[in-house]
Amino acid sequence: ALLSAVIPPEEVGVRFDDIGALENVKDALRELVMLPLQRPELFTKGNLTKPTKGVLLFGPPGTGKTLLAKAVATEAGANFINITGSTITSKWFGDAEKLTKALFSLARKLSPAVIFVDEVDSLLGARGGSSEHEATRKTRNEFMAAWDGLKSKDSERVLVLAATNRPYDLDDAVIRRLPRRILVDLPNLENRVKILRVILSQEELAEGFSFDELARITHGYSGSDLKNLSVTAAYRPIREYLEGNKQLLGTNEGGSTAHSTGVTPTLRA
Ligand code: ATP
Repeated sequence: ALLSAVIPPEEVGVRFDDIGALENVKDALRELVMLPLQRPELFTKGNLTKPTKGVLLFGPPGTGKTLLAKAVATEAGANFINITGSTITSKWFGDAEKLTKALFSLARKLSPAVIFVDEVDSLLGARGGSSEHEATRKTRNEFMAAWDGLKSKDSERVLVLAATNRPYDLDDAVIRRLPRRILVDLPNLENRVKILRVILSQEELAEGFSFDELARITHGYSGSDLKNLSVTAAYRPIREYLEGNKQLLGTNEGGSTAHSTGVTPTLRA
């Protein structure tokens, strides 16, 4: 269960340049996360003897938190260990405590390593009171203990990057362990242009296509929404081609034909 969660740095496949906008977030991650992983010798004096063991990325869904964590691993040459809070509490059920311990020892063996915990609220959410399952409580305590056990020694260059859409649901004890919290917010107009430029960098765009115009009409869209929109739009030429070649493809006369739903976005804005 654990080994399948490990991606070696050369296979992660996301670099900071593949992520549009979010410059401040990238800068913060470079300083907080990558520097300690790459240059542990800089963190041996005074207030710096305890480099950050964890950073929290929070913000709406689809804003690039997973991409950022992956880019950190790639750029720092660190193994990327991807786990999801809800997987630990459901799929690992019964073995969760043991697997959590194994997770950290694996990460130390594979260091430098980034443990990315998506949906951290479902693993380390506020204590559920008496109704909380005993196993969940134990897993959370084990996670915290193993995390606290990380030393800043060279051999233990392991960092926890946690992500959530629900920061207010986190347990206080978790918040304390994540003193550095970075908001990954929805993109504004200017940032939507930057994200679209990255997402559409390999596309053939219609004549007269305007990034500014598309960014203007996609207010409230996350990076993930923009990506989905672009994928949908990229199908349009294929659909048009198929419609124009029905006979060639032997489509039945009365058969259903793919036709525009009217809501299909188009990049021919
Ligand atoms: P969730 O909270 O739902 O887990 P997330 O914040 O982790 O979402 P990602 O999984 O990183 O979001 O983003 C989903 C997809 O959206 C990415 O694979 C990418 O295609 C696209 N995307 C999101 N943000 C950006 C961005 N800033 N630049 C380029 N692509 C982006």
